[in-house]
Amino acid sequence: MTAMSEGPSPAVDAVRARLWGAIEARRDELVALVAELVRQPSPLGHEAAAQAFVADHLRASGLATEAWELDDRLRTLPEGGDSGVPFAGRPNVAGILGGAGGGRSLILNGHIDVVTPEPLAAWTCDPWGVTIADGRMYGRGAFDMKSGIALNLFLARLLRDLGISLTGDLIVQSAIEEECTGVGSLDLSRRYRADAALVTEPECGRFTWAHMGVLWFRVAITGKAAHAMIATQGVNAIVKAMPIIAALLELERRLNETVHPAWAAVEHPVNLNVGVIRGGDWPSTVPGACELHCRLGFFPGQTLPDMHHLIETTIAGAARADPWLREHPPVVTYDGFQSSGSIVSLDEPWVRALGRSHHRATGETMVPVVGTSINDMRYFNFAGIPAGCYGATGGNGHAADEWLDLASLVPTAKTVGGFLLEWCGVAD
Ligand SMILES: [Zn+2]
Repeated sequence: MTAMSEGPSPAVDAVRARLWGAIEARRDELVALVAELVRQPSPLGHEAAAQAFVADHLRASGLATEAWELDDRLRTLPEGGDSGVPFAGRPNVAGILGGAGGGRSLILNGHIDVVTPEPLAAWTCDPWGVTIADGRMYGRGAFDMKSGIALNLFLARLLRDLGISLTGDLIVQSAIEEECTGVGSLDLSRRYRADAALVTEPECGRFTWAHMGVLWFRVAITGKAAHAMIATQGVNAIVKAMPIIAALLELERRLNETVHPAWAAVEHPVNLNVGVIRGGDWPSTVPGACELHCRLGFFPGQTLPDMHHLIETTIAGAARADPWLREHPPVVTYDGFQSSGSIVSLDEPWVRALGRSHHRATGETMVPVVGTSINDMRYFNFAGIPAGCYGATGGNGHAADEWLDLASLVPTAKTVGGFLLEWCGVAD
């Protein structure tokens, strides 16, 4: 190859014009694709139907498509995690559009799983029903991230229909378990190599170049059951959870005192969430057991063993101050996410190419942002495949009345489509 200045070739310019024309002309098809995916509920353990839809779509677009069940050993790999849900019947899916040769390869990755719509009473519409109003599509996953899965499928379909041949390989992936462990994309990052990976998470037209690590942990607190009429003869495990929660919130406060430079502009980047509390079963019984289920974010560079140690010493310290807990120390265990944060350089050639495409499609400079949650880009970065996130606009992810801004679909598809043409190259 000869040295060239950075930027797309005239051949890419011509093909981009055709692709963008088709994106605009077939916008309704993209909206319908998101809607069809939302109507396939895919919370943890129920991904099968949605993944079958994805695999069929990729096959119909001419991609060499595979669907396979994950290996249980992924659960115990470094940066893996265990959801406790068997892998049978919940495959990962990937399709390859082989390039003509000589170009750079690209992974378009997304996750098929969605979080539960609970509490259902907070929704003003059916979370699986697809309600479209005022330019928004409401539904669980419409935003995070059936929008991104649909964009990836749509672009592959347009390449086929327009007869566009890339020089590098395009690999479209649909992962399970992004929302609880990440093992779906951990698996994908070990099976496929590429020169870059774009995760089409709905980042509202911004580029996520750094995100934090996340770990989940449980704290089991033992009390002593008794009839409530003689409550002082028992030990209330729910009440004993209070000093533990207070100590964890104090740990969160301290962790926000020393902030990684990438998060300097973010208010309160470290979040410790007491997400679940389970204890007791009867109003007239002093509860003999209580369990907290928590999530803690941490910066790249902080290690999992360090964070485990901090959590355990924090809880042990709180227990020492309480005569009962000193004798009956809470037990800490780990499940779900156990994975570090990651960072990709904004000087990566593919990131600059994405930025150029964003500017061309929207007239605006692509804004880099950092995430305070975790996402699947990390596995590709860990595997030496530079990766970041870019995708559609919306709101209420992981909340009631999740919505997708339908007007964002076309510019997002243009940005990603224009980028993949430039990055992978166009064959004559
Ligand atoms: Zn997501």
